[in-house]
Amino acid sequence: MLTLQPVRGIIRVMKSRQIMHKCKFINLFIIVFFSGILTGCGSQAVVQEENVAPQTLRETESYLIPDKILLEGTPNVLVDQIGYEINSTKIVMFKGEVLPLTFDVIDRENDEVVYSGTLIENGYDEDWKLNTAYGVFTQLEKEGNYYIRADVIGESYPFAIKSNLFQDLLGDVCLSFYRNRCGQELSEAIGGKDAHAICHTAKFVIDNTEIDLMGGWHTSQDSSRNVIDGCEAVADLLLAYKLNPEVFETTWQQDALTSDVPGILSEIKYETDWLLKMQDHKNGSVYKGILTKNISDDKTGKSPSQMILQNEDIETTGVFAGVMAEFSESFQGYDGDYARECLRAAEQAWGYLASQKATQAHYFAAACLYNATGKAVYHSYLKEYRANAGRSDENTLIKLRGDVAYLNSRRKVDTELCSMIMKDWMEKVEQLAEISSENAFRVCGTNVDDIFNHLLYLTMINHVITNHEYGTVLRSHLHFFLGRNPEGVSYFSSVGYKHLSEENKTEEICTSPKRAAAMLLILGEIVSEEMNTSEE
Ligand SMILES: [Zn+2]
Repeated sequence: MLTLQPVRGIIRVMKSRQIMHKCKFINLFIIVFFSGILTGCGSQAVVQEENVAPQTLRETESYLIPDKILLEGTPNVLVDQIGYEINSTKIVMFKGEVLPLTFDVIDRENDEVVYSGTLIENGYDEDWKLNTAYGVFTQLEKEGNYYIRADVIGESYPFAIKSNLFQDLLGDVCLSFYRNRCGQELSEAIGGKDAHAICHTAKFVIDNTEIDLMGGWHTSQDSSRNVIDGCEAVADLLLAYKLNPEVFETTWQQDALTSDVPGILSEIKYETDWLLKMQDHKNGSVYKGILTKNISDDKTGKSPSQMILQNEDIETTGVFAGVMAEFSESFQGYDGDYARECLRAAEQAWGYLASQKATQAHYFAAACLYNATGKAVYHSYLKEYRANAGRSDENTLIKLRGDVAYLNSRRKVDTELCSMIMKDWMEKVEQLAEISSENAFRVCGTNVDDIFNHLLYLTMINHVITNHEYGTVLRSHLHFFLGRNPEGVSYFSSVGYKHLSEENKTEEICTSPKRAAAMLLILGEIVSEEMNTSEE
């Protein structure tokens, strides 16, 4: 029987950090948003499903907020709606045309002011179009439940100060992959309002042959399944696991059917099983994805779902080749046959790519295939690509993924190329730290996609360098997604008091495996630090 409830609570501590801090730049991970590439998708095949439960939109959950601090609309005193770790930097944000001079932190137990501080003006922020200020209450280290009050502008939502604060959230994000599984039933016990019957089971017919494309994760709220998004989620999950194995081994409970395989790898395999189906075995290319459209039929009252298979393309095939090679390496200790099947699929995809003009996706694929096989052909290809592309080659995220795969290689590498890559990378991260220090909400960007793209570099650097400054920047980003943002909303439907509005639901982190995986990289770092601190 499958047991999928994440384990919460006791976490054992391992010193994996020491193992990971070897002197090479471990992986990078990047969110790639291939907006340009996804246009003009010709429909290869279309199928209509009759007996599919209609996609239900997640509704805003109602939370009981104590009367005293019930807020109408958006609060002006913005805090992380989960809270702050005991020894962390604690910052509250304020917004309003007129801001007061001081703020009070109030204990919810007895309504007593336990800390008073001064507002520090940021002034008017052009990016956010807001007048903001912030206050620091790092000195408050007493475990408890609090809220913050400031004259004129009001009160914050409640929050906690405690240790091991983010472990439940980590468990929820881990479970979101299971909740996003396509092609199987989602029970009410796990899915709640999103529970549904088995979905998207219809077969496609290509060249008069019926093919089964069931499975994988829904990669967006409309239940579409995109190969690149899925691959990126896989890549980030593999990296999150590599960086902080103890965190995921204790949080992501093992699948009881395959008890020797860590739960996180079993979940990834659910996606790779589908990815393998998305490859055209005639030439090795890979379909971009399956779009899902719901069409309401007034006559029958049913909402059949139409699925459109999108044509193969080079970028998708390149990202697939790289990620399947990466997974084959991580999985070979558990199931050699399956790992070989993944690698064979990756090499077949390479066969298709090799006949096409070189792209950055080729570079990424070559770097991963070199790691997995050690074959000189891949090494020569990637070195030649970098030599020809030079520094003028645009710094896209897929190229950076390739860089990281190479820097993290266990094979023999070209040290000159490694130094060049590392230099570029450090420059980028320094820039990002500066951007976030100048941003009113202490994040490196003003839209969610940018923030996610940038955040991932910082996670990586934080892990490699263990720099207090980067750790603080990472936490600032987590606080942002948990309510310390201009709208005072939590980007997680499972936590917080105010959630994304219906029209912004697509930004919810757990409806997108790609974002959820990136978030796990950050949470893995933070929870690992918490675990190590509590042991000391
Ligand atoms: Zn589905």
